[in-house]
Amino acid sequence: MLDVSSPTIPALMPHDADAFAAFSREEIAALIANLFGILPQRGCEQRCAGCHASALPQVSSADWSTTVRAVESLAAWAMRLKLTPQSGVPGALIETFRDSDPAHLRFSSADGVMRGIGDYAHLLAHMLRRPIKIMTSGVRARLQNGNLVLNGGDLDQLEQAARRAGRLSVSASIETSQYRALGEARTAEVLARTLEAILRGAFDRREMPEIFLDLMFFSPDGADPLTQRTLDLYRATVEALDSDYITVPVKTRLLDTFTRSIDGTRNQRISIAESPFGVRVSPHLNIGRAAITERGQYLKRAHPSDWLSILPGDPDDQLIVEGERYRRADLASDYDFRHHVITHLRESALGGFLAEKVHMTGNPLKFFRAEIDLTGASQHRIAGRYAAPGITLPPGVNLLVSDPLDDELQVIIPYKPLT
Ligand code: SF4
Repeated sequence: MLDVSSPTIPALMPHDADAFAAFSREEIAALIANLFGILPQRGCEQRCAGCHASALPQVSSADWSTTVRAVESLAAWAMRLKLTPQSGVPGALIETFRDSDPAHLRFSSADGVMRGIGDYAHLLAHMLRRPIKIMTSGVRARLQNGNLVLNGGDLDQLEQAARRAGRLSVSASIETSQYRALGEARTAEVLARTLEAILRGAFDRREMPEIFLDLMFFSPDGADPLTQRTLDLYRATVEALDSDYITVPVKTRLLDTFTRSIDGTRNQRISIAESPFGVRVSPHLNIGRAAITERGQYLKRAHPSDWLSILPGDPDDQLIVEGERYRRADLASDYDFRHHVITHLRESALGGFLAEKVHMTGNPLKFFRAEIDLTGASQHRIAGRYAAPGITLPPGVNLLVSDPLDDELQVIIPYKPLT
């Protein structure tokens, strides 16, 4: 629900200050109801072989004033349209990342002030009052004279973010470049200190957010080498947690969690009643780049999920693309049909750089989840795929959908620019 009592939410956004002036009211209403993420950063230096978002290592971050303007515009529209998204509706949780690591986020800004995920979490919580999701592979760290030095700014920003976010998780990934550089024991230390920063922030709150340690590589019986090494890193991380944050009995329970085999064909959350955080197992996430590299994972056992499926609604709703009619029910259930539409939209977007140029009747934001990309995307996959060399896509709204026929968990179709 929107915090209408906040004095910082503008009562009315003048048209020239509205970042969504190019969108109809119906589009904005659907965007607010179904919003999947607001991305202030694209790209990631960790280069995980299993990155489900296939993140490229060129990182670009949004400008802080662009970010504030977009979020304020969205808040003003939500108030104007009297939208009160309830938790549980699709898109209620706003993701702050897709192909980046939020802990490494630094906004560019004219005033030179260093701002990161803590400032961003504060802005979103204050303006939109929607729970946000943060997932990190750990704060940045380096070795100096043989000693591990952690990035204090990253730790501080995560601690601040934990005072606001609805869900935070730290991934125990053996695939990050940091793991390759530091090895298991030191990576475990980095992840433990990262979790402790989150817990410090969360302990300040009346209600704890959801906090997880994520296992990114996991096969059903835990027998393959990647799963074994992931479990080793998980155990080393739990061992390295300071007992100020987690008691010895809880630590023992967490270490015992994987002594029994669990059903690894589904994403799962495992909670320990007395523990401030739980564990998540995400077997599906091993099909990003890993689907290409097949680094020892038993891919046959991980079923590609229809992760970003067609939004629920009237099954007879139609989207007409270049004269062809598509029913919601067919888009949702018929993967051949969906593949056809995605290909059509992609090809059309490729011709005009943005899908808004496609002749479309119906509101695509009622069919597809959407994200607001606040960065210029010239160096990134999205631009490489959709824009001719030298063309920079402006900050804008992207449509998101998965294409199970192509094993693509997330197809990104640039739709319309912000103004
Ligand atoms: S999985 Fe996460 S940490 Fe690894 S490259 Fe992708 S975005 Fe970066």
